[in-house]
Amino acid sequence: MTVDYHTHTNYSDGSVPMSMIRAAEEAGLDGIGFADHCVVTTDEWLQTVKRAWGFNLDATYERRREGLAALRDHADVRLFDAVEMDYKPRDESEVAVFLDDAGFDYAVGSVHELDGTNVHNEGHFVDKSDAERERLVDAYFDDLVALVESELFDVAAHLDLVERNEALRGLATESQYRRVAAALEASSTVPELNAGRVRDDDGEIHPVPGFMDVLLEYDVEFVLGSDAHEPEDIDPCVAALEKFVATHGVPTTELSL
Ligand SMILES: [Zn+2]
Ligand SMILES: [Zn+2]
Repeated sequence: MTVDYHTHTNYSDGSVPMSMIRAAEEAGLDGIGFADHCVVTTDEWLQTVKRAWGFNLDATYERRREGLAALRDHADVRLFDAVEMDYKPRDESEVAVFLDDAGFDYAVGSVHELDGTNVHNEGHFVDKSDAERERLVDAYFDDLVALVESELFDVAAHLDLVERNEALRGLATESQYRRVAAALEASSTVPELNAGRVRDDDGEIHPVPGFMDVLLEYDVEFVLGSDAHEPEDIDPCVAALEKFVATHGVPTTELSL
């Protein structure tokens, strides 16, 4: 059974569900999970992103759920009704209440915000001193460990999102990797092997091989996520994930759904 647990539809910044379903069928998947962006934290910058990008699945998930129910009769893959939630430690109770109410098939948790902006935002970090960038990477991993320890989510997304930003890339340390790995070993939250970066020029899987070597020392299994926003991303991303699993001997698992 191969499931892609992390894709996006036009209920956030992805493509219409039917096009993603057809692409999942063509890629030979057994299941596809729609994990649209959703912000319920009170963080000011995330609230701005929510309004600007329409990351408001909290307002629309029931409509999407009805749509997926109708599409199930026309799909040769299993469809999962999921969510990618932005996580900030101070907003755990808001996230918990929302997830309890909404009753998704599963929830993916993500740290996207760092120093009041997106972790991807190269311009924001490029002029900072080495010491400051190292401090910020540490702050990113603090939030990630808190996410894993919160037990709010079934899946922890793109563990080393800082690697997607050239200004932050390569600054993570082995002790940060070990903190995350130990937290995952003790948590029911499963990490994701994420292909959101493989089609970029500097294409790599999250987590990078050095991080994966550390994770493999711990009792941790992974699920696969293409993080596809367009149907044409699904097949090459899933192929890259499967190749990485085979090359690095990554233990994989499935969520019980
Ligand atoms: Zn994400
Ligand atoms: Zn995503």
